Amino acid sequence: MEYDVIIIGGGPAGLTAAIYATRGGLKTAIVEKQSAGGQIALSSVVENYPAAEKMSGFELAMKMMTQAESFGAEFIYDDVLSVDYNEKAVALASGLLLKAKTLIIATGARPRLLGLDSEARLTGQGVSYCATCDGAFFKGKTVAVTGGGNTAVEDALYLKNFAKKVYLIHRRDKLTAEKALQNALFNSDIEILWNKTVNVINGENKVESVTLSDTLNGEQINLALDGLFIAIGRVPQTSLCKELNLDGQGYVITKEDMSTEFKGVYVAGDLRQKPLRQVVTACSDGAIAAASAIKYISEN
Ligand code: NAP
Repeated sequence: MEYDVIIIGGGPAGLTAAIYATRGGLKTAIVEKQSAGGQIALSSVVENYPAAEKMSGFELAMKMMTQAESFGAEFIYDDVLSVDYNEKAVALASGLLLKAKTLIIATGARPRLLGLDSEARLTGQGVSYCATCDGAFFKGKTVAVTGGGNTAVEDALYLKNFAKKVYLIHRRDKLTAEKALQNALFNSDIEILWNKTVNVINGENKVESVTLSDTLNGEQINLALDGLFIAIGRVPQTSLCKELNLDGQGYVITKEDMSTEFKGVYVAGDLRQKPLRQVVTACSDGAIAAASAIKYISEN
């Protein structure tokens, strides 16, 4: 099957690229592993995307998807096995081989892991990376969130809707979350455990407690918990980008027009090296990448 553009990844960057590409007259396929929406679909509420005040991330993503579909974008739900950047060919797990004149890679980022032995074993048994998905399982229980950025604070506030007790565990004595979120946190009854790292997650078949270490004096304490939500940032999903130019942290380096060193190949969204990773900047990247693809096709 031959397209003008194949977009890999159905988060805000990919969906916006699809809206701009289809409106620009390109035959557009968007390949997504699971369901469209990406990371934002896991956000309980989005307060800083213009005019989407108080909308859930899922609702916002679904609106973008419907919009892309209404302009004719074709959604393909499949896993991408490999990408040939020279041939602009995308091999899918189902055996399909897609070809296009241009490619837009918008595979986003995934949660960073703590890297503890017990973490994988207890994931889904009290360890979670998504408060919006799993929060409701902890009604009347005691939970903790670890991290100090926007996600951790948002998650802790969201979990207050269900849990009887919420802790926020952070490795320093300052948060990086934006001020509005910090104010909401400080005005809640969430207990903040400063200067602590999670050393061990205890429990055979489900989370029972965590062992925390004080980063200042090394003191260890045990904290009884039913659930631990890990919100310590994201890592770019660049397994398909090994041939592209990556920075020291693994983000793809692009030009301002989202182009890469391969002609007709663009990268948009959270996997790019950039100063701010938000829905609005992902959408901006997607729009620019699609405009660049349209220009490339018209000139070649
Ligand atoms: P983040 O901003 O990168 O924050 C990561 C947090 O985890 C930091 O507090 C960091 O501590 C801590 N951390 C990192 N590695 C750790 C480790 N190994 N052990 C313990 N703690 C660790 O990540 P994020 O909150 O997931 O946000 C990701 C991006 O999405 C950001 O750009 C954020 O602004 C954006 N976002 C925006 C919104 C919103 O605007 N509503 C909501 C969610 C996310 P240190 O500070 O000590 O490094």
